[in-house]
Amino acid sequence: MASPDRRWVLASGNAGKLAETRSLLAALDIELLSQSEFAVPDAEETGIGFVDNALIKARHAAALTGLPAVADDSGLAVDALDGAPGVHSARYAGSHGDDAANNAKLVAALDGLAPAQRGAAFHCCLVATRSANDPVPVIAHGVWRGRVLEAPRGAHGFGYDPLFWVDEENASAAEMGAERKNAISHRARAMHQLVEQLRVDEHHG
Ligand code: IMP
Repeated sequence: MASPDRRWVLASGNAGKLAETRSLLAALDIELLSQSEFAVPDAEETGIGFVDNALIKARHAAALTGLPAVADDSGLAVDALDGAPGVHSARYAGSHGDDAANNAKLVAALDGLAPAQRGAAFHCCLVATRSANDPVPVIAHGVWRGRVLEAPRGAHGFGYDPLFWVDEENASAAEMGAERKNAISHRARAMHQLVEQLRVDEHHG
């Protein structure tokens, strides 16, 4: 076990996210614990952008645990919709996490647009804050560009994956295996950036 001051808290109660984040941060000498171990309730995500929300979540978890914290916020930003659904990605169609309704709403919103007008990007913002009042949190941002399909394709993944076409892979995100997606996604890119920045900190801290 890492020494007490190597303990960090992940601002999420999601077990899958904890396992994934732990394995990606394994290179760092930290012990990552879920905020649910400290009975930290979810923060209210009142931010306008991904960075705002990740910061709100990280500072909230750090304030209530007294530990350094890591938080993420992610979603889909569609060019033709001025970046919507953005931070509202999970609840675009109204109720939180209704993937089928969210996808149907997105297909309808882009109805009639040519492929060149269907550009979009998945974004993942990761924030690491050493304390609730850290004046310079570490911020990482991963972007994965693609195009919104007219109809869903593929059965893997979650959320908007069946509508997200990636030219270089000649596949939708839901047609890729989890391993391939996790190697090239917005989340993977943000995680690698965060690890790099924290490692630099470790060596200079
Ligand atoms: P969260 O940051 O885990 O709360 O995700 C926000 C929402 O963005 C999800 O509920 C999905 O609708 C969407 N989203 C984020 N990442 C992905 C992805 O990798 N594939 C598909 N949808 C995603």
